[in-house]
Amino acid sequence: MFNLKKKKQILQLEDSLTQANSKITELEKQLNSIRALLENMVEGVMTLDKDSRIVSINNSIEKIFAISKKESEGRFLLEVIRNNDIAEVVNKVLSDGKFISKELTLVWPVQKNFKVNASPILENSAISGCLLVIHDITEIRRLETVRQDFVANVSHELKTPLTSIKGFVETLLEGALEDKENSRHFLEIIRDHANRLDSLVNDLLDLSHLESKEIALRKEEVNLKNLADDIIASFRSHLKKGAVVIKNDLPSNLVAKVDKDKIGQVFTNLIGNAIKFNRENGTIKVYHQESGDKIQIFVEDSGIGIPPKDIPRIFERFYRVDKARSRELGGTGLGLSIVKHIIELHNGSVGVESTEGLGSKFYFYLPK
Ligand code: ADP
Repeated sequence: MFNLKKKKQILQLEDSLTQANSKITELEKQLNSIRALLENMVEGVMTLDKDSRIVSINNSIEKIFAISKKESEGRFLLEVIRNNDIAEVVNKVLSDGKFISKELTLVWPVQKNFKVNASPILENSAISGCLLVIHDITEIRRLETVRQDFVANVSHELKTPLTSIKGFVETLLEGALEDKENSRHFLEIIRDHANRLDSLVNDLLDLSHLESKEIALRKEEVNLKNLADDIIASFRSHLKKGAVVIKNDLPSNLVAKVDKDKIGQVFTNLIGNAIKFNRENGTIKVYHQESGDKIQIFVEDSGIGIPPKDIPRIFERFYRVDKARSRELGGTGLGLSIVKHIIELHNGSVGVESTEGLGSKFYFYLPK
């Protein structure tokens, strides 16, 4: 009788033990998945105790602040991350127990912008620590600046010709219309500015079209030599005699699968620049090289060249070495960024080598 009762109790105990064990295994599983989630979050996550000592950090925090778990866990926050703004946020949360969200700039190890969300960790209603979630918003801020700069640039570029047009129209209306010789000259200036506005708006439309994700390339087998020949012919008809000599050294069997109109535009922009920034009786040469599965096309000129400090920025929208000269020559500052976009849409890349006073060599790669 006694044995039977004992046996039942033991069985019950075993049963509860098994249940407890499976609960522990389940909890361990959950803990591991939470740990894995925290470790691999894009956001930086850090927990601190009530004395501002680091309890744990995830992988993103290690990357953002260039620190390691081993060196930082257990140490005071300010010993590890020497940033007073973050320390201030943590102190405030630990003393007030309220959630704080703040944007901060970090200058070391590299300049970065962050959004820091800090919450208190409570234990039996008392503040026992602080949880920091740090979002890296550097890229978002950079893109905002790029957008603001772009809008400012476009407005400025549109405003300059518009102001001139308005000015000359006023002058004509105020009496210059009667002055036959001058009025013709003013009208010519107005026409030039209107043409500038026209090219600017066309380039902007091209750029925005190229940047939109929906753009579809109409790829076909295109003979690149013939294409370059057509573009060169269209320039020749406008060139003064002896202005520049253009040579097309592409082989007659050079074919690539590309969007003909778009690559035609690339040739137009590069050869157009090679003419604009050339010298009297200068030369332009179009040639190619094949390397592996790529074709590299060069447009080389004997012109004014580009100063080394400007080379890294030359493909940016509106970037010009000499704004006044570019405008005078009818430039918009958008030609090279259009070239870059088109080539990148073809999975290629662009580049330039240049020596001031001697000339420039623009090139682009296309997959064969
Ligand atoms: P744009 O020609 O309308 O000014 P681009 O984007 O085509 O604009 O070119 C940007 C700038 O790059 C030019 O203003 C000029 O300063 C420089 N550049 C482009 N091509 C050449 C070249 N072949 N030789 C010298 N400078 C060049």
